[in-house]
Amino acid sequence: MRRLVLVLGDQLSEQIAALKAADKARDVVVMAEVMEEGTYVRHHPKKIALVLSAMRHFAQALEQSGWTVAYSRLDDAQNGQSLCAEVLRRAEEFGAGKVITTRAGEWRVIEAIDALPLEVEVLEDDRFIATHRDFDLWAEGRKALRMEYFYREMRRKTGLLMEEGEPAGGQWNFDHDNRKRAEPDLLRAKPMEFTPDEVTQEVLTLVEARFRGHFGQLRPFSYAVTRGQALRALDHFLRYQLAGFGETQDAMLAGDAFLNHAVLSPYMNLGLLSPREVCDRVAEAYAAGEVPINSAEGFIRQIIGWREYMRGIYFHEGPDYVRRNALGHSRDLPPLYWGAKTDMACMQAAVAQTKALAYAHHIQRLMVTGNFALLAGIDPAQVHEWYLGVYIDAFEWVEAPNTVGMSQFADGGVIASKPYVSSANYINKMSDYCSGCAYDARVKTGAGACPFNLLYWAFLMRHEERFKSNPRMAQMYRTWDRMEAGKRADILAQAEAFLDRMCAGETV
Ligand code: FAD
Ligand code: SF4
Repeated sequence: MRRLVLVLGDQLSEQIAALKAADKARDVVVMAEVMEEGTYVRHHPKKIALVLSAMRHFAQALEQSGWTVAYSRLDDAQNGQSLCAEVLRRAEEFGAGKVITTRAGEWRVIEAIDALPLEVEVLEDDRFIATHRDFDLWAEGRKALRMEYFYREMRRKTGLLMEEGEPAGGQWNFDHDNRKRAEPDLLRAKPMEFTPDEVTQEVLTLVEARFRGHFGQLRPFSYAVTRGQALRALDHFLRYQLAGFGETQDAMLAGDAFLNHAVLSPYMNLGLLSPREVCDRVAEAYAAGEVPINSAEGFIRQIIGWREYMRGIYFHEGPDYVRRNALGHSRDLPPLYWGAKTDMACMQAAVAQTKALAYAHHIQRLMVTGNFALLAGIDPAQVHEWYLGVYIDAFEWVEAPNTVGMSQFADGGVIASKPYVSSANYINKMSDYCSGCAYDARVKTGAGACPFNLLYWAFLMRHEERFKSNPRMAQMYRTWDRMEAGKRADILAQAEAFLDRMCAGETV
């Protein structure tokens, strides 16, 4: 009997488990563009365009290599506009009794596929270095699931940057070399850009017509949409950017969205590149003496460490993870996250860049927009929905643990041993935002005081009971205790007044 091979929009690899298990001569590959996936959160138009164009190109490549592909376009008259409706329609059309698929990266889709009234064989997604079993075994019996220890396991498992069983360069982690400020440099290389071909042009027109009102600029669109292009983007990164990646990894510049960041996450997350091949190429560049250890190690850690660890946490913690709210935060996400005017130069820059590119690098996500949401006590579910919608690389298995856990501490400390909060000091040290801001990073209270300074202390006081005994935060509480009582009262009152103004819709 014919089987359907369901390939989801982020499984665009000929090596995906379901395709490896299928029979090219007999089975039918099902791929479907559906409104349900485009609108369950309001995705950035560039992200929708990337996924649809990459799917169309991938379907063409499969057909060229001999697969039969039943591809549903978004505007097909018979399209049922949900994944399950399309699978059922295709099962009837082809008289198929069984579906083979690769496990989805989101509980919502896993549950929908499990509920299909058909025989479904779900295969493990083997694009990752750690299987679910690897992660669960590692996590078993541990008091704390800290990434650094997981990462060392992954270095041993892969042999990446290992020399005779020891870490290359004599250390596991070279982060202390990776905290430099960056200076504007017009000659710094940018990630590779691609001119949209006919397929992408058609998708852009479709997205314009069907996803009006979604936050974000669709054009110009220059992301890679095929494996060939993604490989060229990888080559370009290795040649021009990797060497400088480490030093400026945490830096932010108003006039440079990318610095030496790779912008490879969308391609790995879609399946156009495999994380292992990316890391192998980086390790080769280090072995050839082309890049320093702090860049090679820092980059590989992001992938076999953080990326794999986040996926492990998402599946280990279960479907309720995205709804956690350990700190009980309940304020609505303010309009400034959707581009409303703000006087905070750092927030304005991060949001404007997100709107234009659907991209912000890690420190902008963590220490600017994430930090502000946490300090301001925003409902983490709304923060999660924002990150899931606005970024080009956002898929729930990786976005949710980063947002709910790492950035918002809403999991109560599963991922982070302390909340990632900071006053203006950090942003001022690591960026050039503050020099062009209406607020003053050095002013703690009163006229011109930076909101991050006010909210920082208000956050610590709001959660004093929870964090005061945390050894990594004790120093901050001691500083607060030493502060003059009048100043402390002023800070808290001004923080409250700031939040009231923000919630009332005033420009802050
Ligand atoms: P680079 O800085 O060049 O890093 C190289 C690669 O390492 C990335 O391509 C990515 O695959 C991986 N990586 C780095 N940090 C992480 C991390 N913390 N978790 C997982 N992988 C990592 N990443 C996503 O892929 N999708 C998301 O939806 C996402 N949401 C995030 C939300 C928040 C609140 C935060 C703080 C981080 C989020 N990240 C997410 C992680 C990180 O910000 C992005 O992976 C990175 O910015 C992608 O850009 P890049 O390819 O230029 O990364
Ligand atoms: Fe952001 Fe404060 Fe610096 Fe302004 S002064 S850019 S609000 S940290």
